[in-house]
Amino acid sequence: MTAADCLFCKIASKTLPAKVVYEDDLLIAIEDINPAAPVHILIIPKEHISSLNELQVNHVALLGQIQLLAARLASQLNIAEPGYRLVNNCGEMGGQTVMHLHYHLLGGRNFGWPPG
Ligand code: 5GP
Ligand code: ZN
Repeated sequence: MTAADCLFCKIASKTLPAKVVYEDDLLIAIEDINPAAPVHILIIPKEHISSLNELQVNHVALLGQIQLLAARLASQLNIAEPGYRLVNNCGEMGGQTVMHLHYHLLGGRNFGWPPG
């Protein structure tokens, strides 16, 4: 899939609408359209990276920004305590359905382990 066909590239460029909870030069965070928990935010780099498998060394700082944003949003959304989950699904068996790197910030309920 090229970036031109990509759902999250279209959301990042505002070609498609989304409920944006945070945005800066590198990242956009939106509400998931089909929430799997009371809090379900997608943290998406604006750069088109298909999955974790495509990461390069020059993305290391970006990954740090994603984790910092996850912790900040968790605090703002009052899920820092009692806790939350930050998830990346990678590839078909990992459950990835949108081939543009994103992290799920999930909170507001208990999560089982191991995940389904
Ligand atoms: P994945 O399965 O790739 O890890 O996660 C993709 C996520 O994107 C799913 O949780 C799905 O509900 C969400 N999603 C799919 N299409 C849209 C959309 O058009 N808008 C928003 N906000 N979320 C979407
Ligand atoms: Zn994309």
